[in-house]
Amino acid sequence: MTDVRDVIIIGGGPAGYTAALYSARANLAPLVIEGFNWGGQLMITSDVENYPGYPDGVMGPTMMQDFRRQAERFGAEFVTDDVTRVDFSERPFGVWVEGTEHRANTVIVATGATARQLGLESEQRLQGRGVSYCATCDAAFFRDKVVVVVGGGDSAMEEATFISRFASKVYLVHRREEFRASAVMVDRARNDEKIAFLLNKVVDEVLGDDKVTGVRLRDTATGEVSELATNGFFVAVGHDPTTALFLDQLDHEPDTGYLVTQGKSSATNVPGVFAAGDVQDHVYRQAITAAGSGCAAALDAERFLAALRDTEPAVTAG
Ligand code: NAP
Repeated sequence: MTDVRDVIIIGGGPAGYTAALYSARANLAPLVIEGFNWGGQLMITSDVENYPGYPDGVMGPTMMQDFRRQAERFGAEFVTDDVTRVDFSERPFGVWVEGTEHRANTVIVATGATARQLGLESEQRLQGRGVSYCATCDAAFFRDKVVVVVGGGDSAMEEATFISRFASKVYLVHRREEFRASAVMVDRARNDEKIAFLLNKVVDEVLGDDKVTGVRLRDTATGEVSELATNGFFVAVGHDPTTALFLDQLDHEPDTGYLVTQGKSSATNVPGVFAAGDVQDHVYRQAITAAGSGCAAALDAERFLAALRDTEPAVTAG
């Protein structure tokens, strides 16, 4: 029979590692199934300047290594692979990595979200070198510089408006003439004299060898190709939560797939299964908010286990 753990954490980003740190320090010996590509969105970020405690800034991947090491120091164990199946229908819950079964009385889902990419080779190559998916994180690096923002939703409008506080010029590139964004957000961007709209345009290539120097645009109506010099390239075409594994078992928003948590807690609809970080938060999406949410999930799991021990003493591990 597979050992039954107190906690399994699925996901290796700020939320998962913080949940691991807290649950390890609570003597819950967590198993973190961190994913083959552990580290989450910070692995495609260069300088992080808005995480408290790093007054000189830190590289995103370094910060994630620090998070991981801190959890490891208190006894968290890691599986560097992807979960392939979960069964939350009864406790202890089942979590599989291919043929290997893991069981635990609580599970914290912290699988995060990914920013949608355009899918260009040049976009990928220049990530962290002028290509960004987060204005809150990176806008301040573009003081008095020219920036291109791609997208036509609320995120694109919000990011363009935010970046214009720093940049000398912001070009908002959108593939149609109509916007998915709300009228008030479009108006705010339109009324900003630093923002220029380039409509019916797609980006075919991000230009630059080791940093962004421009973009190649194509007009969707005429096919005309042009180049625009820019220092920054912000992709704001939406995010996708990593929830495919859970959709048949956990309550989620029908349109977006984000997991739904209950009230001011990390509880999902399944008692003993908690969700933390961007997988359940499309509003704040910051490393610091994800970490805070991971902490909350670990505390929720700890309380759940304590209540379980009171009512079902036989589940006590060891
Ligand atoms: P979204 O509403 O899905 O908009 C994505 C935009 O990106 C669309 O305009 C889409 O164009 C464009 N796009 C998608 N794939 C593209 C591609 N490959 N190439 C070029 N353009 C592409 O996403 P979002 O703006 O991130 O917003 C997500 C949700 O969060 C929305 O419900 C939004 O209201 C909410 N939100 C609210 C606020 C706020 O109220 N302050 C701020 C941010 C987000 P098409 O329109 O042509 O499909």
